[in-house]
Amino acid sequence: MNKKLGLLYDSRYFDHTIDQFSPENPDRIRHLYATIQDTYADRYQMFSPREATLEDIKAVHSSFYIQQIREHAVQADPYSYDRDTYLMQDSFVTALLAAGGCLEIADSIMDGKIGSGFALIRPPGHHAETGRGMGFCILNNIGITAKYLQKKYHLSRILIIDFDVHHGNGTQEVFYDTDQVLFISLHQKGLFPFSGAPEEIGKEKGVGYTINLPVYPQFGDCEYTYLVGRMLQSVVEQYMPQIILVSAGFDGHCDDNISGTHLSTYWYGMVTTMLKQYARDSCDSRLMFILEGGYNPLSLEHSILATLDSFLAPEIPRVGIMYTERADRILINHPLREYWTI
Ligand SMILES: [Zn+2]
Repeated sequence: MNKKLGLLYDSRYFDHTIDQFSPENPDRIRHLYATIQDTYADRYQMFSPREATLEDIKAVHSSFYIQQIREHAVQADPYSYDRDTYLMQDSFVTALLAAGGCLEIADSIMDGKIGSGFALIRPPGHHAETGRGMGFCILNNIGITAKYLQKKYHLSRILIIDFDVHHGNGTQEVFYDTDQVLFISLHQKGLFPFSGAPEEIGKEKGVGYTINLPVYPQFGDCEYTYLVGRMLQSVVEQYMPQIILVSAGFDGHCDDNISGTHLSTYWYGMVTTMLKQYARDSCDSRLMFILEGGYNPLSLEHSILATLDSFLAPEIPRVGIMYTERADRILINHPLREYWTI
C-alpha cells in the first residue's frame, strides 16, 4: 500500500533573485507551485522548510567558503563570487531554506510519516563543491541531506542518482572517497561543468562507488530508459541502498535549450516509476527527489507533474526496456563493470 507523498515548496524560494536575466530565477517554479495547489490538493502531504543549521552545512562545506558566501551576498557585484551564480541579500537564507527543506522531507521519510517526497526547492545544489559554489548552486542540498542521514540515522548505504543533464560534480566530490554513498550520474557529454568521465570512479574506499555515464546529446527516452533499466536496476540489487536520493534535474527535456538532450515529458514519469520499483525492492520505498535544473518553466512544470503522477499512481506498472545499440555501447568496456555485475 502506498504511503502518502510529501511535497515541499514555499514562496520564500522566490527570494533568491536578481534584477537581470538569469536562467535560474523564481519564474522557474512560480506557476508550478500554483498548479500543484490547484490540481493535487489533498493528494499529498505538504511540508514547509526550516533553515539548515551551520552544523548541517559544515558537514559538506568549508567554513571559509561559508564565510565567503555571507560576505559576497551583501556586496555591490552580485556575480563577484562566480560568473553565473549570483549572490544577493536574501541568497544565503534562501540557500539555507533549500538545504533545510530537504532535511525536513528526509526526516519524515525516515520516521515513516511519508513513503517518498519531492523537495521543490531552489537554488539548486549539485554543482556546489565543498569549497566553492558554481553553476547556479550555492549549497549542495543533496550532499547535505546525505551527510545528515548518515549522522542522524546512521545510514551506511545511500544511493544518489543524478539525472540532471549536467554532471553533479559537487556531489561527486563530497563522496568520492567513501563506499557509504554510491553516486551515479547520467549527463550529457561535453556540457558544463565538463567533468564526469567514465574513468572518474572514486578513490580509496570509494573506488567503484562513483559511476558516471556521459551520454550523447542525441540521446532521448529510449537510450536513457535502456541505461537506467540495464545498469541501475542491477546495481541497486547489489548495493541494496537504505534510501534512494535523486538529483532531479529536468534540463535534459527536448524543449529546454540549455542542453541538446531529447528527453520527453513522458520520460520523467517513466523514470520515476522505475525508481519507485527499485526503492520498493531495496529500501522499503524510501525515495526522495530534490529539484536541480530545468530552465524552461513550461517543460519543467509538465515534467514535474508527470513525475508527481507517477509518484501518486497506486500501482507500479512494468516499464518496457528496448535494446538500443548506441546506448549499449556506453556500457561495453565501462569501468563500472570491474565493480558491478550488469
Ligand atoms: Zn543541469
